[in-house]
Amino acid sequence: MDTAVVWFRRDLRLHDNETLVRALADADEVVPLYVFDPDEYADSRYVEEPKTGPYRARFVRESVADLRANLRARGGDLLVRHGDPREVVPAVASEYDADAAYAQTMPATEELTVENGTKAALAEDGVPLERFWTHTLYHVNDLPTPVDDIADTYTPWRKEVENGAEVRETFETPPSVPTPEFDPGDLPSLDDLGIEGRDVDDRAAIDFRGGESAGRERLQAYVWEADRLRRYKETRNGLLGPDFSSKLSAWLSQGCLSPRYVSEEVDRYEAERVANDSTYWLVFELLWRDFFQFQFIKHGGDFFGEQGIRGSAAGKEWRRDGAAFERWAAGETGVPFVDANMRELNETGYMSNRGRQNVASFLADVLGIDWRRGAAYFESRLTDYDVCSNWGNWAYQAGVGNDSRDNYFNVLSQAERYDSNAEYVTHWLPELDGLPPEFAHRPWRMDEGTQAEYGVQLGLDYPAPMLDVEEWYRMH
Ligand SMILES: Cc1cc2nc3c(=O)[nH]c(=O)nc-3n(C[C@H](O)[C@H](O)[C@H](O)COP(=O)(O)OP(=O)(O)OC[C@H]3O[C@@H](n4cnc5c(N)ncnc54)[C@H](O)[C@@H]3O)c2cc1C
Repeated sequence: MDTAVVWFRRDLRLHDNETLVRALADADEVVPLYVFDPDEYADSRYVEEPKTGPYRARFVRESVADLRANLRARGGDLLVRHGDPREVVPAVASEYDADAAYAQTMPATEELTVENGTKAALAEDGVPLERFWTHTLYHVNDLPTPVDDIADTYTPWRKEVENGAEVRETFETPPSVPTPEFDPGDLPSLDDLGIEGRDVDDRAAIDFRGGESAGRERLQAYVWEADRLRRYKETRNGLLGPDFSSKLSAWLSQGCLSPRYVSEEVDRYEAERVANDSTYWLVFELLWRDFFQFQFIKHGGDFFGEQGIRGSAAGKEWRRDGAAFERWAAGETGVPFVDANMRELNETGYMSNRGRQNVASFLADVLGIDWRRGAAYFESRLTDYDVCSNWGNWAYQAGVGNDSRDNYFNVLSQAERYDSNAEYVTHWLPELDGLPPEFAHRPWRMDEGTQAEYGVQLGLDYPAPMLDVEEWYRMH
C-alpha cells in the first residue's frame, strides 16, 4: 500500500512499537499522528477537577514533543492535531489519501468507545483500522485462558500465566520513518487544553520529564547506574527519595516505555549482575499492571460502578460528605500520614504505592466516602494515571474489586512501621518538624502544655483531627 496513518495513543515510543513496525512494513509511507482529545481534559464527573490535571498534561506534551523529535531524527515527523479523534483521524486519512490506519487498542470503556467510533468513521470512507495490543508484558492473545474467563484474583492468574505463557520479544526501533511532506502543526499549550499550569514542588522524588528518551534514561539510571534493582524488594515500600522504587509508572502509562523492554533489561541485569528475589519482583509488579489491564477487558464498565465488579454482593453504602472529602483531598484531615501523602500528590503528581494504599483505605474505609471520588481525584492529579491500574486498585482497596476480603490499612500503625522516625511526614508537613515521632504521627496526643513546648498548636499550625481515628481502629 502507499500510505498508512499511524495514530499514536498511549504508545508514545519508537522502541517495541508493533503498530508502527507493521505500518512501515505494509506501506511505502506513514503519517504519524497524535491527537490531543479535548474530552481527556474536560471536567471530571466526580470531582471539581479536570480529568487530566497540570502535571500529567505537561508530561503528555513533553512525551509528544520527544516522539516528534525522535521521528524527525529518523527522517519523519509527527502530525499533531487537537480535536475528537473520531473526526480527526478520518480527516487526516482522507487528506493524505491513506489506504489504512494503524493504532494501539486499549481496554477501558472511554478509550474503546473512541477507538470503535474512529474505526466506524474510517470504515465509511473505506479505510480499515488495524489495531494492535502493545502495552502489556504478556500479549492478550497468549494468555493460557481466554481473557473473558481469567481468574479474578491475582495469584492464581499470575501462576497460570507464568507457567503457561511466554513474553514476546521486543520489536526493534525502526531506523527510518518515511513520511510525506506535511505541516506538522504546533503542540497545544496547557492554556489551549484549558488546563492551568502548576510547577512541581522542589521536594519531588524525581523529575518526571515526559518522553521515551527520559523514560529510557530513568530505567538506565535506576537499574544500571544506581544499581538499585538488586534491592528493589526490600526498598519498594519506601516513601522518600528517588530510588526506593523504580518510578517507571508514568513512562509506562503513556507508553513511553514498553513493559517488555523493561523486562528484557531485567533479564540482561540478571545475566550480567545478579538474579535474586528483587530482580524478579519488578516483573512481579509489572504483572499486577497486566492483571488490571486484562481485568478491564473482562469486566469493562463494571469497574466504575459504586459496587465495582462485585455488584450487589459488595453491599457497600458510601457517604457523600463533600466537606470531609475536601479535607482528605487537600491533605487537611489532621492525620499526618494521610495528609503528608496527599500533599505530596498535590504538589508533585506522585505518591508511593504504600501511600496510595493508605490514603485510599482512609477515604473508603475510615471515612466511608464513595471511593470513586478518590479514584477521580487521583485521575486528575497523578502523572502516572492509568485507567486500569487506578480504578482497579481503588476498587480493590474499597472492597468492591478483585479482592473479596474487607481488609483496611491502619494508617497509624502503617505510619509507625514505614516512617518510624517521621522523616516522611515532616518532609511534607514541615509544620510538624521537631516533634518526636510519636507526636508527629499522633499530634492529638499532645496536651496544651506539650503543644506549647514544641510550638505546634493544633487547629492553628496543623489541623485538629477530623475524627478520633484511634477510636475508629479500636472499634473495627
Ligand atoms: C489506590 C491506588 C491507585 C493507583 N493508581 C495507579 C495509576 O493510576 N497508575 C499506575 O501506574 N499505578 C497505579 N497504582 C499502582 C502503584 O501504586 C504505582 O504503579 C507505583 O506506586 C508507581 O511507582 P513505581 O513506578 O516506582 O512503582 P514500582 O514499585 O517500581 O513498580 C514497578 C511498576 O509496576 C507497576 N505496578 C506496581 N504496583 C502496581 C499495582 N499495584 N497495580 C498496577 N501496577 C503496578 C507499575 O507500572 C510500576 O511502575 C495505584 C495503586 C493504588 C493503591
